[in-house]
Amino acid sequence: MSISFPHVGTFTYVMESICYEMGRKDVVVPNKPSYKTKQLGSRHSPEWMCTPFKMLLGSFIEVVERGAFELVGTLFIDYCRLGYYVPLYELILEDLGYDFEFLYLNFNQPLGFIQEMRRRTSGLTYWKTFRAFQIGWIKNRFIDLVDKYLYHYQAIEHNKGSAQAVADKAYRIIVETRGMSNIRKLRKIIIKMFKEVDIDKKADPLKVAIVGELYAVVEPEINLGIMRLLNELGVISYTPITFCRWIDIGSRANPFVRPTFKTAIRKAKPYVEYRLGGKTQESLGYAIMFKEKGWDGVIHLYPFTCMPEIITRSIIPQVSKEHDIPILSLVLDEHTGEAGLKTRLEAFVDLIDRKRNDL
Ligand code: SF4
Repeated sequence: MSISFPHVGTFTYVMESICYEMGRKDVVVPNKPSYKTKQLGSRHSPEWMCTPFKMLLGSFIEVVERGAFELVGTLFIDYCRLGYYVPLYELILEDLGYDFEFLYLNFNQPLGFIQEMRRRTSGLTYWKTFRAFQIGWIKNRFIDLVDKYLYHYQAIEHNKGSAQAVADKAYRIIVETRGMSNIRKLRKIIIKMFKEVDIDKKADPLKVAIVGELYAVVEPEINLGIMRLLNELGVISYTPITFCRWIDIGSRANPFVRPTFKTAIRKAKPYVEYRLGGKTQESLGYAIMFKEKGWDGVIHLYPFTCMPEIITRSIIPQVSKEHDIPILSLVLDEHTGEAGLKTRLEAFVDLIDRKRNDL
C-alpha cells in the first residue's frame, strides 16, 4: 500500500522526507505538474473551483494511477474553499473508480494529526512520529534557504545554470540526510555549496518580492517559474510565503522569535482588519515591509477564482499609492502563457528600473 501526496513546488522534498522518516519505503514521489496534469485536473473539477484545486487533483490522479493508495490530504478550516478540498477530492476520485484512502491530517487538531500520522508509520512510537514531523519542519527551513540562495545567485551568476545545478544537488542532500546531528549541519553545507557559484560581486541588481496565494507562489508550474524569469532579467527575487508558516512549530513555539508573518499581519491591519483566508493580510503587510527594506517592487500572484486574493487585488492600488511601491498583480490559471507573462515582467522591470534611477 504505497503512500503519496500531490506536487507542491519544493515543499514536495519536505513531504518526501517526512514519509521516509515515518519509515515508509513505498513512497510514490509525484511528478512535476505537466500540461497533462492540468488537463486531467480541469476535466474532472467543477468549473468554478480555483486553479490550485484543479492542479492538485490532476497530481492526485497521476499518483493513484502510478499505484499510490494512501494519499496525504491536509485539512485546514479556512475562510475560503480550502477546507472543502479533501472531501471533494474523495468524491471525485471515487466517482472515477479509483481505489485509495485519504489521510486526514488536520492542522487544527494537533493530537489527532499525530495519531493519524502514527497509524501510517511502520510501527513508530508517538515520540518517533513527532520526531519525523519535526525533521520535516527543520528540513523545510533548509529547503527555503536553498530557494532563497537560488533566486539570488541565479540573477547574478556568470555561468548560466550553475546556481540551479547547485540547488538541485542541495535539495537531494537535504532529502537524503538522516539523523538530527547531520541535519543540523545542513545550513553550513548549503552556504558552502552556493559560495562555489561564480557571481558578479559588483552587481547591484533590482530586487522584487513575490507575495500572494500560497500555491500560486510556491508551485513554479502554475506561475511558470516567475522567480526564474525575473532572474533571467537580472532581477533578484524572493518570497516570504512558504509552508514554514504552518509546519515550523519550533519557530512558532519559540518565545524569542517573532515570526515575520505576524509583523506583516499587523502592518496590514489598517487595510484589512480581520483574517479573510488565503494570504490577504500577509500579502499587503509584506508589500509594506519590503518597501521599508528598500526593495524595488512587489509582484502579487493569485489564482483564477481565488476569493480572498481578489480582495487583496482590490486593495493593492491603495497600498501601492500610500507607500509609493510599484506592485504588479497577476492572475494565473492553467491557460496562462509564458510569452504574455514575460512581456508583463519586462514592462514591470523597466518601470522599477526607471523609478530607481529617478528617470
Ligand atoms: S486561497 Fe484562493 S486559491 Fe487558495 S484555496 Fe482559497 S480560494 Fe482557492
